[in-house]
Amino acid sequence: MKNFVLLGAPGSGKGTQSYNLVEKFGFIHISTGNIIRNINIKNKKLNILFDNYYNQGKLIPDDIIIKIIENYLHKIIGNLIWDGFPRTIIQAKKFEKLLKKMNSSINHVFYFKIDENKLIKRIIDRLICSFCGRIYNKINLLPKILWICNDDKKALIKRKDDNEEKIKIRLKIYNSITFPLIEYYLNKKKLTVINADMEKDKVWNQIMNILVKKNGGNK
Ligand code: AMP
Repeated sequence: MKNFVLLGAPGSGKGTQSYNLVEKFGFIHISTGNIIRNINIKNKKLNILFDNYYNQGKLIPDDIIIKIIENYLHKIIGNLIWDGFPRTIIQAKKFEKLLKKMNSSINHVFYFKIDENKLIKRIIDRLICSFCGRIYNKINLLPKILWICNDDKKALIKRKDDNEEKIKIRLKIYNSITFPLIEYYLNKKKLTVINADMEKDKVWNQIMNILVKKNGGNK
């Protein structure tokens, strides 16, 4: 089991590149944001979690996220792309322990570095599939049929937390709580910086180059 972590601000392109990694190499995409959104659809009792944290643009408490990941890890086999997890140093340390128990570890962390001024517009123009979570953009990542997902033909929706007010909160939280993870993984010599300002094919090329280097061509 290999583990690749995609780290970066909301809207930096992690979800889009995860989709490519799934398509090209059959990696399993684990987006904690998607998991949380699905819990909400399935379990109305957990609406409090949603109203108090997700809809406010705030992080779900570490212990709850870790429980979710723990449950998830037992059910999956394969090479994994972690998108949006870990997001705090506490999560990162606990994640290492969980992986160690499974004789696994993080293989590499891709940090999606991007000019923050571009993010707000990108997120405001973003739509996601209400079913699979695939990401589109009203400007440069259009679906084949307007607001229908290419893969499962379900409706595209706008996330409740993708508005200017909530994006500003999410970026503030990212900069104060998640950003220190970059240094954390740099110190562990596990992190490469990706220039996520580039258009998506060029971002993909950077990821490919690193994967080839890390695995000697064997992804
Ligand atoms: P995302 O789809 O990754 O932008 O995540 C959307 C929201 O889900 C975040 O703003 C948090 O409320 C919650 N969330 C997702 N992943 C995590 C995490 N690792 N830790 C805490 N909250 C999370």
